[in-house]
Amino acid sequence: MELIKDGKRIDGRSFDELRPIKIEAGVLKRADGSAYVEWGGNKVLAAVYGPREAQPRHIQNPTKAIVSCRYNMAAFSVSDRKRQGPDRRSVEISKIVSEALDRVIFTEQFPRATIDVYMEVLQADAGTRCTCLTAASVALADAGIPMRDFVSACAVGKVDGQIVLDLGKEEDNLGEADLPIAIMPRTGEILLLQMDGHLTMEEFNKAVTLGMNACMKIYEMQKEALMKKYTGD
Ligand code: ADP
Repeated sequence: MELIKDGKRIDGRSFDELRPIKIEAGVLKRADGSAYVEWGGNKVLAAVYGPREAQPRHIQNPTKAIVSCRYNMAAFSVSDRKRQGPDRRSVEISKIVSEALDRVIFTEQFPRATIDVYMEVLQADAGTRCTCLTAASVALADAGIPMRDFVSACAVGKVDGQIVLDLGKEEDNLGEADLPIAIMPRTGEILLLQMDGHLTMEEFNKAVTLGMNACMKIYEMQKEALMKKYTGD
C-alpha cells in the first residue's frame, strides 16, 4: 500500500501537518478535574481525583504524593473487539504516563497523598498515548494541581522514507518508525521519548525537532481549552 502519493499522505495531509484536534476542559462533574480530547480518530476522556489520602496506608510515600495513572481502552474503541482489563500495552502506557506526569507535578507538596489519573480511550486511531498525556495534563490543571509546567505530546514517524508528523492508523501499522514525544513546553525538557522501528541519526534529529515543534502547538491548544473553561470564551 502506498502511504505517500504526489507529496501528500494517505489522508491528504502534508508531512508536517497534525490531524484535527479538539480539547475541552472540565467535562465531568464528579471528578476534581477532567478533559476530553478528540485527536483525529482518537477520542479520550481523562479524569483526575486528588490529591487525597493514599489507601491502603502502606502504599503512602511520606515525602511525596504518588501519581497513579490508569490507561484503559474501551471494548468498542478498536475495530477488533478489545479484551477487557489490563494487558501489557495498557500497563506500559499507564506507567509511562505516570512517570511523565510525576516530573511536572509538585508531588512533594502532598506527602502521603495520591493523585489518581484515569484515561479512558473511547475510540483509538493511533497515537492514543500522546492523546492521553495531552488530556491528562489538561485535567490536572483543571483540578488545580500545582505543576511546574504542562505536558504536551505528539508522535512523529517515518512513512515511505519520509519523516512525518502525527501518524494516522495506516501509517502507524505500515510505516517504518513511530516515535512518540512528550515535553515540558516552557523548558523544552523531554519527558517521554519512545521509538518503534529504525531511523538514521539524521532522521532521528529531524523527527525530534518536528515533534517538539508540534508539542508547542498542542500546548497552545491546551491553554486555550483551559482559558475557555474559566473565562467562557
Ligand atoms: P498508540 O495508541 O500510542 O499509538 P500503539 O502504537 O501501541 O499506541 O497502538 C497503535 C494503535 O493500534 C492504537 O492507537 C489503536 O488504534 C491500535 N490498537 C492498540 N491496541 C489494540 C488492540 N488490542 N486491538 C486493536 N487495535 C489496537
